[in-house]
Amino acid sequence: MQLLHRGDAGPAVSEIRSILVTLGLLPPNGHAGSTTYDASVEHAVRAFQQQRGLITDGVVGPATYRALTDAKWRLGDRSLAYFVSRPVSGDDVFALQERLLELGYDAGRPDGIFGKQTEHALRSFQREYALNADGICGPATLRSLKQLAPKVRGGRPVYLREQEKVRRAGPRLRGKRIVIDPGHGGNDRGAVVNGVAEADLAWDFARRLEGRMVATGMEALISRGPGSCPPDADRAIFANEAGADLFLSLHVDSNRSPEAQGVATFHFGTGNGTTSNVGEALAGFLQREIVARTGMLDCRTHPKSWEVLRWTKMPAVRLEVGYLSNPRDHARLLDPAFRDTVAEAVLVAVKRLYLLGKDDQPTGTFTFDDLLRYELTRAEGA
Ligand SMILES: [Zn+2]
Repeated sequence: MQLLHRGDAGPAVSEIRSILVTLGLLPPNGHAGSTTYDASVEHAVRAFQQQRGLITDGVVGPATYRALTDAKWRLGDRSLAYFVSRPVSGDDVFALQERLLELGYDAGRPDGIFGKQTEHALRSFQREYALNADGICGPATLRSLKQLAPKVRGGRPVYLREQEKVRRAGPRLRGKRIVIDPGHGGNDRGAVVNGVAEADLAWDFARRLEGRMVATGMEALISRGPGSCPPDADRAIFANEAGADLFLSLHVDSNRSPEAQGVATFHFGTGNGTTSNVGEALAGFLQREIVARTGMLDCRTHPKSWEVLRWTKMPAVRLEVGYLSNPRDHARLLDPAFRDTVAEAVLVAVKRLYLLGKDDQPTGTFTFDDLLRYELTRAEGA
């Protein structure tokens, strides 16, 4: 598709405007002829991109356009069904998947795409509630879905299964497969401050981490080449096809304010309380280890339904290590010793996830050597 940006006009722009109005990001505009991509549209697009974890450039390209058209659907706006050749996607599908999970039906990890597993869960629901088990979410099915109280409390089946998988995987890192996803790349440099680009830093972090993980016997796969920038959806597909145990996306932040600084980690979750418990636990370990070892500001963990977190079928997190726009963080990021420290902190955080919190090493003290020794002694004992 053609990129849409400030100054453009026409039917595509009116469509975007009306979606932004529906989403409450743009005030309803009474006067006629509001088909231009003006400053207020650009502002609203940026706000939308920020919410969805897209590149915040104020331009509507394919990813932003898809996210906008998905966002306009509310559950009940249309009938939903599984079309093999052209799967339906949208926020209404996401809401349906969440609802099925709440009711105890295994619709898989909610991703907003009506796939085979969504259909299967919907049919089971319809059968149990004596509805026509056609796998179509029409008005009657929708009414029943809305009337019922949630069966599952304190954890949805898909997330309980993630936890069980981690428990069964055992404490050793050897043989575990992780996809390391350096953000941006190629023509997309990410944040750039004083000639330092996020894409290059993310790549450097990925390589440092990869080396350490391979040394422990883990299988570390990198989601992109040094000079390419696949879309987030492709990065998620790469991890799914690799059957990865974990997905770790690496980014560096920037902000208009030079005061903004620190480290934050994002895991899959929505405002309605759907959260990947394993993702949240890993995010927590990452924050603790990095903050303890570097003294960076703790900007905490946050649930997000960004594409890369939503479409990955394994626990996934996105790490934002420092702000290039903050002089102190900037200087640290340029220091290779700092980047080694962060790589070590990440490795130990992953280790802690598999130790299930059962270790006596205080946060920030577990070294790479300790870890290798642990892996070796376990290997001999096994
Ligand atoms: Zn980034």
